[in-house]
Amino acid sequence: MRLLVVEDEAALADQLAAALRRTGYAVDIAHSGEEGCFLGETEPYDAVILDLGLPKLDGVAVLKRWRQSGLTMPVLVLTARDSWHDKVQGLDAGADDYLAKPFRQEELLARLRALIRRASGRASPQLTCRRIVLDPKAARVSLDGEPVILTSHEFRVLSYLMHHMGEVVSRSELIEHVYAQDFDRDSNTIEVFVGRLRRKLGSDAIRTVRGLGYQMEDV
Ligand code: CA
Repeated sequence: MRLLVVEDEAALADQLAAALRRTGYAVDIAHSGEEGCFLGETEPYDAVILDLGLPKLDGVAVLKRWRQSGLTMPVLVLTARDSWHDKVQGLDAGADDYLAKPFRQEELLARLRALIRRASGRASPQLTCRRIVLDPKAARVSLDGEPVILTSHEFRVLSYLMHHMGEVVSRSELIEHVYAQDFDRDSNTIEVFVGRLRRKLGSDAIRTVRGLGYQMEDV
Protein backbone atom coordinates (compact mmCIF):
# COMPACT_ATOMS: atom_id res chain seq x y z
CA MET A 1 0.00 0.00 0.00
CA ARG A 2 1.24 3.45 -0.91
CA LEU A 3 0.48 6.64 1.02
CA LEU A 4 0.92 10.37 0.54
CA VAL A 5 1.72 12.68 3.46
CA VAL A 6 1.07 16.40 2.81
CA GLU A 7 2.56 18.36 5.70
CA ASP A 8 4.59 21.58 5.64
CA GLU A 9 6.33 20.97 8.98
CA ALA A 10 9.32 18.99 7.74
CA ALA A 11 10.11 17.33 11.08
CA LEU A 12 6.55 16.11 11.58
CA ALA A 13 6.34 14.90 7.97
CA ASP A 14 9.57 12.92 8.32
CA GLN A 15 8.52 11.46 11.64
CA LEU A 16 5.16 10.37 10.22
CA ALA A 17 6.70 8.91 7.08
CA ALA A 18 9.22 6.94 9.15
CA ALA A 19 6.46 5.47 11.34
CA LEU A 20 4.39 4.57 8.28
CA ARG A 21 7.35 2.94 6.50
CA ARG A 22 8.05 0.87 9.60
CA THR A 23 4.49 -0.49 9.35
CA GLY A 24 5.03 -1.63 5.77
CA TYR A 25 3.74 1.29 3.66
CA ALA A 26 5.46 2.99 0.74
CA VAL A 27 5.31 6.73 1.51
CA ASP A 28 5.67 9.93 -0.52
CA ILE A 29 5.96 13.32 1.22
CA ALA A 30 4.79 16.69 -0.10
CA HIS A 31 5.79 19.82 1.82
CA SER A 32 3.31 22.21 0.20
CA GLY A 33 -0.30 22.25 -0.95
CA GLU A 34 0.76 22.70 -4.59
CA GLU A 35 3.10 19.72 -4.55
CA GLY A 36 0.59 17.60 -2.64
CA CYS A 37 -2.22 18.51 -5.00
CA PHE A 38 -0.11 17.56 -8.03
CA LEU A 39 1.03 14.23 -6.55
CA GLY A 40 -2.52 13.34 -5.54
CA GLU A 41 -3.69 14.02 -9.08
CA THR A 42 -0.93 12.08 -10.80
CA GLU A 43 -0.07 9.14 -8.53
CA PRO A 44 -2.43 6.41 -7.29
CA TYR A 45 -2.44 6.46 -3.47
CA ASP A 46 -4.23 3.99 -1.22
CA ALA A 47 -4.73 6.77 1.33
CA VAL A 48 -3.62 10.36 1.99
CA ILE A 49 -2.78 12.21 5.21
CA LEU A 50 -3.43 15.88 4.53
CA ASP A 51 -2.60 18.73 6.89
CA LEU A 52 -5.21 21.48 6.57
CA GLY A 53 -2.90 24.28 7.71
CA LEU A 54 -0.65 24.69 4.68
CA PRO A 55 0.75 27.98 3.36
CA LYS A 56 -0.74 29.37 0.10
CA LEU A 57 -2.84 26.48 -1.19
CA ASP A 58 -4.39 25.10 2.02
CA GLY A 59 -5.58 21.56 2.68
CA VAL A 60 -9.28 22.29 2.17
CA ALA A 61 -8.56 23.79 -1.27
CA VAL A 62 -6.41 20.76 -2.20
CA LEU A 63 -9.10 18.34 -1.09
CA LYS A 64 -11.84 20.21 -2.96
CA ARG A 65 -9.78 20.07 -6.15
CA TRP A 66 -9.18 16.35 -5.80
CA ARG A 67 -12.84 15.60 -5.19
CA GLN A 68 -13.93 17.87 -8.06
CA SER A 69 -11.60 15.88 -10.34
CA GLY A 70 -13.37 12.71 -9.22
CA LEU A 71 -10.52 11.32 -7.10
CA THR A 72 -11.91 9.01 -4.44
CA MET A 73 -8.88 7.88 -2.42
CA PRO A 74 -9.45 7.93 1.35
CA VAL A 75 -8.20 11.17 2.92
CA LEU A 76 -7.50 11.75 6.61
CA VAL A 77 -7.08 15.43 7.45
CA LEU A 78 -4.96 16.82 10.27
CA THR A 79 -6.66 19.76 11.97
CA ALA A 80 -5.62 22.39 14.47
CA ARG A 81 -6.35 21.48 18.06
CA ASP A 82 -9.97 21.95 19.13
CA SER A 83 -10.99 23.64 15.91
CA TRP A 84 -14.50 22.35 15.20
CA HIS A 85 -14.55 24.71 12.23
CA ASP A 86 -11.53 22.93 10.66
CA LYS A 87 -13.13 19.54 11.16
CA VAL A 88 -16.43 20.59 9.58
CA GLN A 89 -14.69 22.27 6.65
CA GLY A 90 -12.46 19.24 6.11
CA LEU A 91 -15.31 16.73 6.19
CA ASP A 92 -17.48 18.92 3.96
CA ALA A 93 -14.63 19.20 1.47
CA GLY A 94 -14.54 15.41 1.16
CA ALA A 95 -12.34 14.13 3.99
CA ASP A 96 -13.09 10.61 5.23
CA ASP A 97 -11.74 11.16 8.72
CA TYR A 98 -9.84 13.74 10.78
CA LEU A 99 -7.36 13.87 13.61
CA ALA A 100 -6.60 16.95 15.72
CA LYS A 101 -2.99 17.93 16.42
CA PRO A 102 -1.20 16.91 18.53
CA PHE A 103 -2.08 13.24 18.12
CA ARG A 104 -0.69 9.87 19.09
CA GLN A 105 0.96 8.02 16.22
CA GLU A 106 -0.90 4.85 17.23
CA GLU A 107 -4.23 6.60 16.68
CA LEU A 108 -3.22 7.87 13.27
CA LEU A 109 -2.08 4.39 12.22
CA ALA A 110 -5.31 2.81 13.49
CA ARG A 111 -7.47 5.36 11.65
CA LEU A 112 -5.49 4.81 8.45
CA ARG A 113 -5.89 1.06 8.66
CA ALA A 114 -9.64 1.52 9.11
CA LEU A 115 -9.82 3.86 6.09
CA ILE A 116 -7.87 1.47 3.86
CA ARG A 117 -9.92 -1.47 5.08
CA ARG A 118 -13.19 0.32 4.33
CA ALA A 119 -11.95 1.45 0.91
CA SER A 120 -11.25 -2.17 0.00
CA GLY A 121 -14.73 -3.19 1.20
CA ARG A 122 -13.50 -5.32 4.08
CA ALA A 123 -14.72 -5.30 7.66
CA SER A 124 -12.26 -7.59 9.39
CA PRO A 125 -8.98 -6.03 10.59
CA GLN A 126 -7.07 -9.15 9.49
CA LEU A 127 -6.96 -10.36 5.91
CA THR A 128 -7.29 -14.09 5.33
CA CYS A 129 -6.78 -16.13 2.18
CA ARG A 130 -7.05 -19.84 2.96
CA ARG A 131 -3.96 -20.64 5.09
CA ILE A 132 -2.49 -17.14 4.86
CA VAL A 133 -3.30 -14.43 7.40
CA LEU A 134 -2.03 -10.86 7.06
CA ASP A 135 -2.22 -8.53 10.04
CA PRO A 136 -1.88 -4.91 8.84
CA LYS A 137 -1.46 -3.62 12.40
CA ALA A 138 1.60 -5.69 13.20
CA ALA A 139 2.70 -5.84 9.54
CA ARG A 140 2.96 -9.61 9.99
CA VAL A 141 2.03 -12.60 7.90
CA SER A 142 1.44 -16.17 8.96
CA LEU A 143 0.90 -19.46 7.15
CA ASP A 144 -1.05 -22.12 9.04
CA GLY A 145 -0.47 -20.03 12.17
CA GLU A 146 3.31 -19.99 11.75
CA PRO A 147 4.97 -16.60 11.21
CA VAL A 148 6.46 -16.01 7.75
CA ILE A 149 9.35 -13.56 7.39
CA LEU A 150 8.90 -11.20 4.42
CA THR A 151 10.97 -8.29 3.14
CA SER A 152 9.19 -4.92 3.05
CA HIS A 153 8.61 -5.18 -0.70
CA GLU A 154 7.29 -8.74 -0.48
CA PHE A 155 4.96 -7.57 2.30
CA ARG A 156 3.66 -4.66 0.23
CA VAL A 157 2.98 -6.87 -2.80
CA LEU A 158 1.12 -9.39 -0.66
CA SER A 159 -0.76 -6.68 1.24
CA TYR A 160 -1.95 -5.03 -1.98
CA LEU A 161 -3.07 -8.36 -3.47
CA MET A 162 -4.85 -9.33 -0.24
CA HIS A 163 -6.62 -5.96 -0.04
CA HIS A 164 -7.85 -6.74 -3.58
CA MET A 165 -8.64 -10.44 -3.25
CA GLY A 166 -10.73 -11.71 -6.12
CA GLU A 167 -9.48 -8.99 -8.46
CA VAL A 168 -6.86 -9.40 -11.15
CA VAL A 169 -4.09 -6.91 -10.38
CA SER A 170 -1.75 -5.95 -13.21
CA ARG A 171 1.99 -5.71 -12.81
CA SER A 172 1.95 -1.97 -13.49
CA GLU A 173 -0.73 -1.44 -10.82
CA LEU A 174 1.40 -3.37 -8.32
CA ILE A 175 4.45 -1.28 -9.20
CA GLU A 176 2.52 1.93 -8.55
CA HIS A 177 1.31 0.74 -5.16
CA VAL A 178 4.45 -0.85 -3.70
CA TYR A 179 7.09 1.76 -4.59
CA ALA A 180 7.42 5.33 -3.38
CA GLN A 181 7.88 7.96 -6.07
CA ASP A 182 11.64 8.41 -5.80
CA PHE A 183 12.30 4.68 -5.96
CA ASP A 184 14.00 3.18 -9.00
CA ARG A 185 11.21 1.02 -10.41
CA ASP A 186 11.80 -2.12 -12.40
CA SER A 187 8.76 -4.09 -13.51
CA ASN A 188 10.73 -7.37 -13.53
CA THR A 189 11.22 -7.15 -9.80
CA ILE A 190 7.48 -7.68 -9.27
CA GLU A 191 7.86 -11.12 -10.82
CA VAL A 192 10.78 -11.79 -8.49
CA PHE A 193 8.72 -10.74 -5.43
CA VAL A 194 5.79 -12.93 -6.49
CA GLY A 195 8.17 -15.86 -7.02
CA ARG A 196 9.57 -15.43 -3.53
CA LEU A 197 6.09 -15.09 -2.03
CA ARG A 198 5.08 -18.36 -3.69
CA ARG A 199 8.11 -20.11 -2.25
CA LYS A 200 7.27 -18.84 1.22
CA LEU A 201 3.48 -19.16 1.10
CA GLY A 202 2.82 -22.04 -1.27
CA SER A 203 2.96 -22.21 -5.07
CA ASP A 204 -0.83 -21.82 -5.36
CA ALA A 205 -1.05 -18.72 -3.13
CA ILE A 206 -0.89 -16.27 -6.04
CA ARG A 207 -2.33 -17.12 -9.44
CA THR A 208 -0.85 -15.73 -12.65
CA VAL A 209 -3.54 -14.57 -15.06
CA ARG A 210 -1.74 -14.72 -18.37
CA GLY A 211 -1.28 -11.33 -19.98
CA LEU A 212 -3.27 -9.58 -17.24
CA GLY A 213 -1.52 -9.92 -13.92
CA TYR A 214 -1.92 -11.67 -10.60
CA GLN A 215 -4.81 -12.74 -8.45
CA MET A 216 -5.43 -14.07 -4.98
CA GLU A 217 -8.67 -15.90 -4.42
CA ASP A 218 -11.33 -14.30 -2.24
CA VAL A 219 -11.95 -17.25 0.07
CA1 CA B 1 0.86 22.94 8.90
